Amino acid sequence: MRRGGKSTSAAKATSGGSGEEREPNGGLGPSKPEPALPPIPTALPASPAPGLHLVATPIGNLGDVSLRALAVLRGADRIYCEDTRVTARLLGRYGVKTPLEPYHDHNAKTMRPAILAALGRGERVALVSDAGTPLVCDPGYKLVRAAIAEGLPVTAAPGASAALTALILSGLPPDRFLFGGFLPRQRAARRTALAGWAALDATLVFYEAPPRLAAALADMAEILGARPAAVARELTKFHEEVRRGSLEELASHYRAAGPPRGETVVVVGPPVPAPPPDEDEIERRLRAAVAELGVRDAAAKLAAETGLPRNALYRQALTIREEGR
Ligand code: SAM
Repeated sequence: MRRGGKSTSAAKATSGGSGEEREPNGGLGPSKPEPALPPIPTALPASPAPGLHLVATPIGNLGDVSLRALAVLRGADRIYCEDTRVTARLLGRYGVKTPLEPYHDHNAKTMRPAILAALGRGERVALVSDAGTPLVCDPGYKLVRAAIAEGLPVTAAPGASAALTALILSGLPPDRFLFGGFLPRQRAARRTALAGWAALDATLVFYEAPPRLAAALADMAEILGARPAAVARELTKFHEEVRRGSLEELASHYRAAGPPRGETVVVVGPPVPAPPPDEDEIERRLRAAVAELGVRDAAAKLAAETGLPRNALYRQALTIREEGR
């Protein structure tokens, strides 16, 4: 959907049907009218294998949970999650009654030995985060690392992640990207981090909190230069929106509009190669280089500086030398 010259796209659904309210801002919640739920297929194993199961959950739309995720959550002995209230809501939606235990940044150190002990006894343990793929800017990495070190089985039921969803909706090259997680909050540290990635020939993906969005985009415009970018907001939810434009345009939009509601991901295209100099400019520089370096080295120099084919520059340099005789 295009609005006011800027490229934005939004998925909107009218309410009704289920009578459930959409989520205006954040949280896990049904954001579009949901059809009757299909039963969890009985062909899926009722009981997952013993071990640690990393289970992705929706990033907004509860319909995005996978059938396998539900089967694992249903069959696990225990589910560890960041916030039991958030995960209880997802489980309640699908009638999963597995016991929930908290595992988050504040209790991880004490919980980890208990989880590893349970895995050692052959229990089936699922790990989820509030939303999306656990470990990706969410707890779980140290637990996985410890489980691997102890030779305990670890597997995953993959699914939604805001980073990949934003990347594929951005319209920017998706085949080579760097996920930068959350940028530092402090301006100086943020600019240093951006400078470290400025030369990377890849699309960059960042999670960013709405109150810092405008400042972060302004820093990106300054440090990364003129690049196409996209801000993806409220993905999979009723107010899903992808605003596309140059970093400069996006920075000035959010500076004027203020922090957007909901959650946001910033996607920045790779560096835009400088256009090659025009023919007159190349002729002038090649003449100077021939006079100074000779034909062969002049061609090599210009090829390195402009990316133009060395053979063609060599022929042109020969002509320049012949004319000068
Ligand atoms: N583990 C999650 C994943 O796989 O996407 C990410 C968790 S991280 C703590 C939360 C950040 O993800 C948010 O601040 C936002 O940048 C991004 N995010 C999560 N859900 C989102 C959504 N529905 N729309 C846009 N961004 C989202």
